[in-house]
Amino acid sequence: MSKIKKNKWLRWGSVSIMCIGMLFVMCSCDKKENKKNKLVKEYTRDVFAMDTYMTLKVYSDDGKKAESTLDESVREIEKLDDMFSVGNDQSEVSILNESGSEFVSKDFLKVIKRAEEISKDTDGAFDITIFPLMEEWGFVNKNYKVLSDSEIKKILEYVDYRKVDIDENEDFVSIDENSKIDLGGIVKGYASDSVMEIIKKNNIENAVISLGGNVACIGKNKDNKLWKVAIKDPDNVDEYLGSVEVSNKSVITSGGYERYFEKDGKKYHHILDPKTGRPSESGVISVTIISNDGLFADALSTSLFVMGKEKAENYWRKHSKEFDYILKTDSGEVILSEGVENNFSSDYEYVVVKK
Ligand code: ADP
Ligand code: MG
Repeated sequence: MSKIKKNKWLRWGSVSIMCIGMLFVMCSCDKKENKKNKLVKEYTRDVFAMDTYMTLKVYSDDGKKAESTLDESVREIEKLDDMFSVGNDQSEVSILNESGSEFVSKDFLKVIKRAEEISKDTDGAFDITIFPLMEEWGFVNKNYKVLSDSEIKKILEYVDYRKVDIDENEDFVSIDENSKIDLGGIVKGYASDSVMEIIKKNNIENAVISLGGNVACIGKNKDNKLWKVAIKDPDNVDEYLGSVEVSNKSVITSGGYERYFEKDGKKYHHILDPKTGRPSESGVISVTIISNDGLFADALSTSLFVMGKEKAENYWRKHSKEFDYILKTDSGEVILSEGVENNFSSDYEYVVVKK
């Protein structure tokens, strides 16, 4: 059952606020001494990739190790960008979309396989074949256009994740004619998982990375406390909906305010409902997913946005061990799943969904 709570808002004053994309990670970033009394410093890298600004921060007493970890992370992000960018006709996804069938790389196979499973599991709220719609609405080339019902009907014939065939043993993917793949709703989550792996492999214990709205936190902040990730208020992006405290988790948000165009006073955003072929109007205006699995969290932030609050609640009940969520609706409700309740602070009243 649900209950209503009201918490006191955070004390922002004592921490420095670092603005990255649509989330704000709050951390104190000066030097500290580690257990062996060596000086731990912050090492930062800013990257523009996957159409968004990214910031990577690692904390270490070994500058060389920190810098080489950051180098390796940036190379990984650039590699994945080259692989999954639908705007680049030389990317692996574009080559597959063009030819209809290809042998694919291991990374590509991993992402498309999970994306297909999630498409199935969300009953098509997430759909890897969304590309023809994204393209016609103009989100790929920024040639925005409001589509008519008949145009949408025609394109919808090609939007169906069942039109993709993945042969895992052969690393081979084929797509029906006219259907095309877009993994933009999942790839930043995969990239954040890959970077987290690189950081851990290099024995760096504390780090925070933000790939646009996708934040992943390792270890603790310099005060040895959980990382605090603040979530933008979709009704007023200069304000916060609240914040969540985490360690070793991804916090990933999808909001209609992230990318949209306006025509005749109406806003059209980039999260499309594969059933209607239009920008999703489920009543949900932002979803944050908290999970150990960044790829899953990224796909689900898009999926729950499309599902709407009731279906999102039911979906969470089936997967409550794998993720938690915080969402806001167009009528101003803030709803969160019980697993995140103790780590969430907000000025808003909110409803907690129980198992
Ligand atoms: P952002 O990319 O802004 O962080 P999301 O993670 O919600 O936001 O992903 C939105 C992207 O996902 C779109 O740009 C598009 O590439 C893709 N997309 C949009 N709608 C869907 C959908 N219903 N299913 C799968 N992918 C989608
Ligand atoms: Mg997403």
